[in-house]
Amino acid sequence: MSRRTLNLDDRLYEYLLAHSLREHPAQTALREATRTWPRAGMQISPEQGQLLALLLRLIGARRAIEVGVFTGYSALTAALALPADGRLLACDISDADTRLGQPYWQSAGVAQKIELVVAPAQQTLRARLASGEGGTYDFAFIDADKTGYDTYYELCLQLLRTGGVIAIDNVLWGGEVAQAGSTDADTQALQALNAKIHADQRVDLALLPIGDGLTLALKR
Ligand code: CA
Repeated sequence: MSRRTLNLDDRLYEYLLAHSLREHPAQTALREATRTWPRAGMQISPEQGQLLALLLRLIGARRAIEVGVFTGYSALTAALALPADGRLLACDISDADTRLGQPYWQSAGVAQKIELVVAPAQQTLRARLASGEGGTYDFAFIDADKTGYDTYYELCLQLLRTGGVIAIDNVLWGGEVAQAGSTDADTQALQALNAKIHADQRVDLALLPIGDGLTLALKR
């Protein structure tokens, strides 16, 4: 029975949620508010959020990075999992998307843990490295433009301490990554990054078939 990962049908997926999901009311409300927002499919799934929260607690994370905030569900989830003096550096280029989430960060009482920087993430992360923050972060979650992933991965790897974790979303890309000869730039970027991380001796890894595929890379 356990030789490969299960295919989850709707019934089993509902069971999984019913028997594991624990959301703060602000998380549920923000998910609802995002449902009708343009590009709502960009939001991570709630069980994926819960996994990220568990990982943050597991490694005792205090300082985390998010590349790609969208409407702020994952930032809210991370902030709830971080300790009172924890900080999340949240990077996004969209003011409109992130504005939707901010009232929910407030109502959950975690807004003070989230430092939102609306600018290209590459620029923000390079600035943090230049100001001596290399090796000082515990966790990074990358979920933004796919052609930028490789750059974000490299910058986050520098910002992380040894034993820090990078989580990368959409690495299975709706199954497209398994198509050889794809001419789509996003697919090609993900294929190249997946191959690179598989061979990357700087990290230990697992590629989880949760959501749209989530790679976890532990910095050695
Ligand atoms: Ca995503």
